[in-house]
Amino acid sequence: MIKKLNNTCMNEFDPDALDEVNAVKNIINSIKSSTKQEILPISKSLGRVVSKNIRSTVDIPSFKNSAMDGYAINIKMLKINKHILMEKGISLAGRPYTKKLKGNETIKVMTGSVIPDNCDAVIMKEMVDINGENICFPKNIKKDQNIRKIGEDVKKKSTIVKKGEVITHSHLGILSSCGIKRVPVIVKPIISFFSTGDELISINSKLKKGMIYDSNRYILHGLLEKLPVTIKDMGVVEDNEKSLIKKLKICSKCSDIIITTGGVSVGDADYIKTALAKLGKIDFWKIAIKPGRPLAYGKIKKSYFFGLPGNPVSAVVTFQLFVIAAINKLIGIKERKNITIKAITNDDLSKKKGRVEYKRGYLIQKNNKSTVISSGLQGSNILSSLTKANCYIRLEENISRVKKGDEVTVLPFDIVI
Ligand code: AMP
Ligand code: MG
Repeated sequence: MIKKLNNTCMNEFDPDALDEVNAVKNIINSIKSSTKQEILPISKSLGRVVSKNIRSTVDIPSFKNSAMDGYAINIKMLKINKHILMEKGISLAGRPYTKKLKGNETIKVMTGSVIPDNCDAVIMKEMVDINGENICFPKNIKKDQNIRKIGEDVKKKSTIVKKGEVITHSHLGILSSCGIKRVPVIVKPIISFFSTGDELISINSKLKKGMIYDSNRYILHGLLEKLPVTIKDMGVVEDNEKSLIKKLKICSKCSDIIITTGGVSVGDADYIKTALAKLGKIDFWKIAIKPGRPLAYGKIKKSYFFGLPGNPVSAVVTFQLFVIAAINKLIGIKERKNITIKAITNDDLSKKKGRVEYKRGYLIQKNNKSTVISSGLQGSNILSSLTKANCYIRLEENISRVKKGDEVTVLPFDIVI
């Protein structure tokens, strides 16, 4: 699992670099899923991970009801009465008609209303002729048409939400329709993060030459806020080993995962490696992807640690590829795969062989055709092209260029299965 850091990030092909798939595998295999759970009212459970299978204690629907506004009939009686029945009453949603149908009777029914036990079809009101109390029905009627059967949606005792599923608005719907008030979920893990770099200043200060505003902490905030985790923003640490060690020690006392950005490469002021070597079990990896080659991963006491690259776009890509996989494993979400689609590139694209490259692109779907354009400059420091992008264009390791009109693989943002 451990790959030695060969002291350079210059070559495109690096025999020491791990490929993305194996890096994710290593991370997932090293993480133990949390079993800490809490019970929440369903109204507070959106986005949380269910910690036990949840079964329904009822059938849904719990009674036979109408799927249409129309007339409930018994097909046998209809035939005997030559397709003319007498309207005997009405069943409204929430106000049932409680008797059985007799001989030549039909009742008016509304969508969602109870249907008498001995009815076996509902005919849409648009299909009948009304002559006073006498209702004339069409000939081609099928058994059970327009009838919602007991348990057709949810069977009593069946599992409605599985352990490891993330609660969505539709889960809230099915849980409430089964009368379930509370759900067991995995406790939010604590994720702390900080930026490293002497050049970083707060957005509340005036910009000075040579200094930059710290954008990575805001990016991480944005990425983490969408997840079922508790966020701890631990600020900025200057480029020296002592300060890094101090901050990492504080973080390791209260975090399930610690994320840092910057200082992870091979520059003179890159201290993550040495600080971590003194504190925990750390693997330094070069990953054969662009952007985002250097990545530190490991453990400090009970906290999993990610040292992401300092360039903002690299930090985003490595977060999405590796940190998300780790968080998912920690909170028990089953492995997810990004959806990829094929699109025609509207630009010539080039890269060096040796690394998989994630270019930032803009995907357009028109007349059943998917086309992608580059969203701008592709440097790992260029945030403007990331904000204009709605997808990554994934170019494989052994490709050096694609021409306008070629097919490429695209990963639309925010779609996973
Ligand atoms: P490093 O990985 O520390 O060598 O940083 C690589 C590049 O990312 C440098 O240009 C840094 O100034 C920049 N960088 C590092 N951290 C941040 C941050 N928090 N926000 C914006 N840029 C950063
Ligand atoms: Mg730095």
